[in-house]
Amino acid sequence: MFKKILILSFLVCFCLLCVVPVQAQSELKVLSTSTEVSFPYAVIFKLSAQSNAKITEIRLQYSVEQTGFASVVNEAYVQFSPSTKVDTQWNWDLVKIGGLPPGTVIEYQWIIVDASGDRLKTSSAKVSFDDNRFSWRTLTEGKVTIYWYNGTQSFAQEIMQSTQSSLARLSENTGASIKKPVRLYLYGSQTDLLSSMIFPQDWTGGVTFTRYNCIAINISSFNLEWGKGAIAHELTHLIIGQVTLNPYNDIPVWLNEGLAMYNQGTIDSSFITYLNLAIERNTLISASSLASPFSTDTNKALLSYAESYSIVDFLISTYGKDKMSDLLDTFRQGSTYNRALQKVYGFDMDGLNTIWQTALKASTTAALFPNVRGF
Ligand SMILES: [Zn+2]
Repeated sequence: MFKKILILSFLVCFCLLCVVPVQAQSELKVLSTSTEVSFPYAVIFKLSAQSNAKITEIRLQYSVEQTGFASVVNEAYVQFSPSTKVDTQWNWDLVKIGGLPPGTVIEYQWIIVDASGDRLKTSSAKVSFDDNRFSWRTLTEGKVTIYWYNGTQSFAQEIMQSTQSSLARLSENTGASIKKPVRLYLYGSQTDLLSSMIFPQDWTGGVTFTRYNCIAINISSFNLEWGKGAIAHELTHLIIGQVTLNPYNDIPVWLNEGLAMYNQGTIDSSFITYLNLAIERNTLISASSLASPFSTDTNKALLSYAESYSIVDFLISTYGKDKMSDLLDTFRQGSTYNRALQKVYGFDMDGLNTIWQTALKASTTAALFPNVRGF
């Protein structure tokens, strides 16, 4: 009996000894990995790996840093001929997804399997999708970083100053403050900006990538004033998006656009014309209609912006900044439009429409638009 146990323990030990050398003999390893950014069209992931058995499967897992509720990991199967040494690459064609903003961080890992069943997963690495066609300089203050390549340091400083003022204004008027770092890319010409996009429209002066906390804009000393206002407008969209983010509901479009215009500091006098004409002709668009995306008709769209500004101005000047802060907070909890308004102001969307239009028709133009430029 004792002998039997001895033999059994010998066998167990022997087996254990057998297993260990087999694992140690595995030679599946990565020789090198690298990435190449071809802005704005593609990211190329390169891998060189070898093993003592043929490598039969290579996958790339990758995810993009963005605001959302679930982290999405994508997986690509790489096409190659099985071999003991493989040099391969996978091209992520960004044309298919409409592109990514400059500076987006992509995290990736390789998974390699050989014919003996060995499997290797590389540790996670990151690549920044930089617009490497230009020599960017950077200026950071608080959570805002400005990237620019055209213009002096004081040009960037002037934009930073105006951006910080607009942030202070937004916080003062609505309680909303920047939560996640924002990147501002200042392109030096319209041609440069358009060439950074996959499907550009000729008239595009700037793009806001809400989920990526990034704004790309064409701004130079020639359109500085316009640029400052546009940055304040777009930055407001980003921050309002950050502070109201929830998986259930967006905020009404009139609130989003109205706050962005309100925070610009000055607005164009042509908006008055549209508003006055609509009051005169009794063609004001209702607050409920303005909760959805605006009409593509230029005149209707301009009136929609003017009205949105007017509604936000009415709410803040009549009921105060704290109520606006409460409203954004209620929307962050995923409330419906009617319930949020009812809770904070005591009226729903139709009620708001009636009260606001009554006040609007009773007001003078000057009182409606105290911040109008060029009027
Ligand atoms: Zn806007």
